[in-house]
Amino acid sequence: MHKFFNRFALALLGLGLCFMPLQAEAKTTFITIGTGGITGVYYPTGGAIAKIVNDRTEFGIKATAEATGASIFNINAVKGGNLDFGIAQADSQYLAYNGKGEWEGQPVSDLRSVFSLAPEMITFVAAEDSGIKAIEDVKGKVINIGNPGSGNRQNAIDIFNALGINYEKDFKAESLKAADAPRMLQDGRIDGFFYTVGHPNGNIKEATAGMRKTRIVSIPEIKSLFEAAPYYSMDTIDMAQYPEATNAGEGKISTIGMKATLITSAAIDEEVVYNLTKAVFENLDELRTLHPALANLTKEGMLEGLSAPLHKGAERYYKEVGLIK
Ligand code: GLU
Repeated sequence: MHKFFNRFALALLGLGLCFMPLQAEAKTTFITIGTGGITGVYYPTGGAIAKIVNDRTEFGIKATAEATGASIFNINAVKGGNLDFGIAQADSQYLAYNGKGEWEGQPVSDLRSVFSLAPEMITFVAAEDSGIKAIEDVKGKVINIGNPGSGNRQNAIDIFNALGINYEKDFKAESLKAADAPRMLQDGRIDGFFYTVGHPNGNIKEATAGMRKTRIVSIPEIKSLFEAAPYYSMDTIDMAQYPEATNAGEGKISTIGMKATLITSAAIDEEVVYNLTKAVFENLDELRTLHPALANLTKEGMLEGLSAPLHKGAERYYKEVGLIK
């Protein structure tokens, strides 16, 4: 009996010694980053941020990027503590923090911004054989405006409301996930779809490269929309990125855009947010190479388009390097 206990004690001691060096190392925090559908830009962007921190143990973070329903889903999941970080459109961030739109009367006051990412554009892809050449041509057609939880659904609704087009009556609005829309368009099940997304991306490539010919429809500057929604601005999509679209020769087509942003909750540890921000800003050259839509990121630009207050960890880093006072 005694012998057994002695051996047991020895074994325990041995185990303890094995783990000692591990304990002496800096503690690692595991974090999750909510992104979007796998064919968009959020998913590879979240993956790129994760890669930057995971490759550098000195920041003490192990991150996983998760595919989700996108902006609105991510904000609600961060709010509920089910995700630590999330990528969200600047307009969704604004609406959530200010208790508007989806969050009418229920501001997400713990929402914090970390930095902004690549610009996104409201992208309206339509089948050539549907005859849609302008946004008003949607009447009587089948159009995917996006899944609940996505930011693009709200963008499509905003545009139709501003133009006096009733999305519940004037056409058949589908609620498909962005990742399914190109296939449904190619299969002839829908006439067009909306996706608010950075460029270039795999989703629009897939939609424009199939047998069924497609175009990207320009969206005009809508005065009443811009007055009501300060977070929108005009932007362009470079059609050279989609050489198989029927209007590939049009150069840059104009549409409405905003920025993608990284958000978190005030409840997330200051040190973790500081380290993630520092890792990304110190390795921006690498981040720019990880997806073509990230190629033009700049440190100064990454502080634009944020409406929720900065998380104190991010703010500490920006002050330290003089990006803010
Ligand atoms: N902007 C889209 C949304 O939140 C997601 C875009 C992406 O996944 O790249 O609805």
